[in-house]
Amino acid sequence: MKSVLITGCNRGIGLGLVKEILKLPKPPKHLFATCRDPQKAPELQQLATEHSSLHILQIDLNNFTKYGGFVKSIDDIVKEEGLNLLINNAGIATKSTRINMVKDTDMISSFVTNTVAPVMLSKAFLPLLKKASAFQPDAPLGVSRACIVNISSILASNAKNVEGGVIAYRASKAALNSATKSMSIDLKDSKIITIALHPGWVKTSMGGSNAPLDVDYSTKSIVQTLLTLNDTHNGGFYQYDGKELPW
Ligand code: NDP
Repeated sequence: MKSVLITGCNRGIGLGLVKEILKLPKPPKHLFATCRDPQKAPELQQLATEHSSLHILQIDLNNFTKYGGFVKSIDDIVKEEGLNLLINNAGIATKSTRINMVKDTDMISSFVTNTVAPVMLSKAFLPLLKKASAFQPDAPLGVSRACIVNISSILASNAKNVEGGVIAYRASKAALNSATKSMSIDLKDSKIITIALHPGWVKTSMGGSNAPLDVDYSTKSIVQTLLTLNDTHNGGFYQYDGKELPW
């Protein structure tokens, strides 16, 4: 893959994905890492001093009016080669509540960041993803051609929900999964793969210290899984190691 964009890279899984992608034997020519406040991303800044391919871009993903200019700034760099891989990683988890306690404000903020932002960002990047796909008309489908990865959660799975609660987060990620499925069908003819991916329960500020996986393990596995994606994966829901998950 020549170019990759990952959202939410100042910490957690986003930062881990940046590190793993930079370690690849053939890292991309351009790796775009977004964060809300680059001044508060010292590790990412340090990596950018060591890797000229790493571009740090500032964007608050809840600010949809900025998407046009943001995409243009990337288009100016990648030009006719387009964008091969978009990883919608940024997300929030509001307080985990049951129906008697759930707040409208938590429902709304969860949907804005976890569902609306990845869908609208994918829409904004469609011209660049289509360009990347058309640039290599004979390449097999996958991350080297054109691909959207929506970072979801096992908590989005209705089949796996036996404990209830966590209403705002579960619903926002389940809605993202639903959008992922539609996108995979809508973009099939453009030879763009779209998947939903659960990173595992990972030790980050969201996952907490009791999580069984560390960021390095999760993100190393995710990157290996992404490299194996092909047309059979389009529209699927997978976990970090490639195992398919029930909706
Ligand atoms: P963190 O809380 O550590 O990081 C979240 C990232 O998202 C931060 O970079 C944060 O930026 C960014 N972000 C949140 N809102 C916005 C916004 N409006 N605009 C731009 N950036 C934003 O979480 P994780 O790294 O653990 O989570 C990454 C993804 O993985 C999320 O989508 C999450 O739902 C998912 N996930 C995580 C699991 C886990 O166990 N950790 C399990 C299942 C899914 P800032 O620092 O500015 O807030």
